Amino acid sequence: MPGTRRAPNDRSEARSEKSVGDGQKNLRLKRSTPPQTLGSPGSKSVRRVWLESGLGMQRRVWAIEEWSMRQIAADVWQLSGWPRDFFNVYLVGNVLIDAATRWARWRIARQLRHRSVRLLALTHCHPDHQGSAWAICRRFGVPLACHEADVAAAEGRAPMVPQNRFLRLGRWVWSGPAHPVARVLRDGDELAGFRVIHAPGHTPGHVMFFREADRVVLAGDVLANIHFLSRRPGLREPPRVFSHDYQENRRSIQKLAALRPSLVCFGHGPPHQDRGELAELARRLTAAAPF
Ligand SMILES: [Zn+2]
Ligand SMILES: [Zn+2]
Repeated sequence: MPGTRRAPNDRSEARSEKSVGDGQKNLRLKRSTPPQTLGSPGSKSVRRVWLESGLGMQRRVWAIEEWSMRQIAADVWQLSGWPRDFFNVYLVGNVLIDAATRWARWRIARQLRHRSVRLLALTHCHPDHQGSAWAICRRFGVPLACHEADVAAAEGRAPMVPQNRFLRLGRWVWSGPAHPVARVLRDGDELAGFRVIHAPGHTPGHVMFFREADRVVLAGDVLANIHFLSRRPGLREPPRVFSHDYQENRRSIQKLAALRPSLVCFGHGPPHQDRGELAELARRLTAAAPF
């Protein structure tokens, strides 16, 4: 009924009085309590705890990176990164192969700090392979090498190809500053015991590095061994939108299969050892688009 007062023994009112009472008690308690030792989120001690735990975590990441730089063949090391096997960088003797994106410069520098590096060679000039080239060349004082057909792009005198919105986005997110190319690579050149094999298509100056003695190949982006969304391993052509001439790249895939490699190290994906799967893919692509 309107205007009717509740009896003082009404349970809900009693509850609310109790909570108000508790609140007042808490208020009094807070007022009389000296400042907390741990303090509020902005206090010095809390900031120190955050900083220390952050540094501890960072040190653990560095330790994992150091620990997980792994040898995959004689004199061939794969640097670690995150996501794992996604933007690969290799150390072959004292030659660094590729430089991932510009965001990778710290992890590359950290993993190489106790190594001797004499040269950085690119499989091709794309944002996810040249991104840290400038930073690494400066940091270690080493020259940059790439195939003659990609030199202009690496030096910033010509655009990277293909010129489409996807690569423009890739450049915006991943590429680093241009850098002069001190050593121009040509088909048949020798580098740290590996032969340079011109494998154009993905870019005009794409190369593979092949070591005859144990048939190890560093194949760049002629193929990838990972699905770019699910990150599941598996051989596949690079997305066509990132290839200058995918038909020509298919001829380079034939070239790769014809080497009958024992181990293929790709720009993207884990090392691959299944010669049969590579031959089958090459055969299937030839059948799909005869040339
Ligand atoms: Zn590429
Ligand atoms: Zn790539």
